[in-house]
Amino acid sequence: MSDKILVIGELRDDEIRNVSFEAIAAAKKIDANAEVVGLLLGSGNIETQGQSLIAYGADRVIVVSHDNLKTYTSEGYGQAVMKVVNDESPTGIVMGHTSIGKDLTPKIASKLNTGLVSDVVDIEDDGVFVRPIYSGKAFEKKVITDGITFITIRPNNIPALDKDESRSGEVSSVDVDISDLRTVIKDVIRKASEGVDLSEANVIVAGGRGVKSADGFKPLYELAEILGGAVGASRGACDADYCDYALQIGQTGKVVTPDLYIAVGISGAIQHLAGMSNSKVIVAINKDPESNIFNVADYGIVGDLFEVIPLLIEEVKKV
Ligand code: FAD
Repeated sequence: MSDKILVIGELRDDEIRNVSFEAIAAAKKIDANAEVVGLLLGSGNIETQGQSLIAYGADRVIVVSHDNLKTYTSEGYGQAVMKVVNDESPTGIVMGHTSIGKDLTPKIASKLNTGLVSDVVDIEDDGVFVRPIYSGKAFEKKVITDGITFITIRPNNIPALDKDESRSGEVSSVDVDISDLRTVIKDVIRKASEGVDLSEANVIVAGGRGVKSADGFKPLYELAEILGGAVGASRGACDADYCDYALQIGQTGKVVTPDLYIAVGISGAIQHLAGMSNSKVIVAINKDPESNIFNVADYGIVGDLFEVIPLLIEEVKKV
């Protein structure tokens, strides 16, 4: 095994984010024979989480635990990753195209003087990386011919391998001196959020201006809960104060690729499509049959959402 691919995993509230497991599958697609080394950064006893990366296909895991890694800073994480990269000299690096991945990986790539193919949604044979361009209207294919094979992958596109608890591998700890940082996070004040994480949800029920009020979103939450999904929104709905901007999907919001996207009272502006058009199955509910959302929908219901959603909830509850 001469090639070695480093997979930078991500922890949220001490849980490993799914995209970390997907990144291991991506590493295997890049080179099935390469050694896959997982990397986890955080504080406290995070060694136990390393075992999960092994169960999803990593050969071994390196853990860097430090009080200054409790919360992400590009400086702290950058120093820790660079130390591990210098120790391990990987031929490839894979990370999720998450907020942290988007911030951290260009910095690492520039320090390594290597390229970066970001937001990869598929890996074809012979190392061809597929990524969306022009707000999802087209795809480009890239081949890395020189330097480290460094990519970020879009969550929910490259399926993780099956979990195998019987796999074994070494989980080792590396000490990195990251005490002297220019930026230290003193406290994180989080907005209360409930339920499934929008960017990793398999089902999203998204509301637009057609929902007409914050109260109008309540049935959408009910439907999302029954389906085990999350609620999203168009910018129209966020601008109208029906919901928080954290729910916004689109060019200037989150990019999502769930298995099922239900667009409710959303017209399908190009900026909204940029964030959801790669969803696997799109269902649109809109009273205007000419609405652009029907051009990307796999299934369309022309009707008043205030009549359709309660009927849908009733039917889904029967299943
Ligand atoms: P509308 O366009 O007003 O559509 C409402 C829809 O609801 C209509 O189709 C209507 O037929 C339907 N409707 C109304 N009542 C009912 C009913 N009772 N039953 C069923 N259907 C009903 N937008 C985003 O979403 N995300 C972004 O990230 C984003 N970024 C942007 C960035 C820039 C630089 C700009 C300029 C714009 C951006 N926008 C973004 C805004 C975007 O252009 C649209 O204005 C916005 O998406 C419209 O939101 P909407 O579809 O909810 O509202």
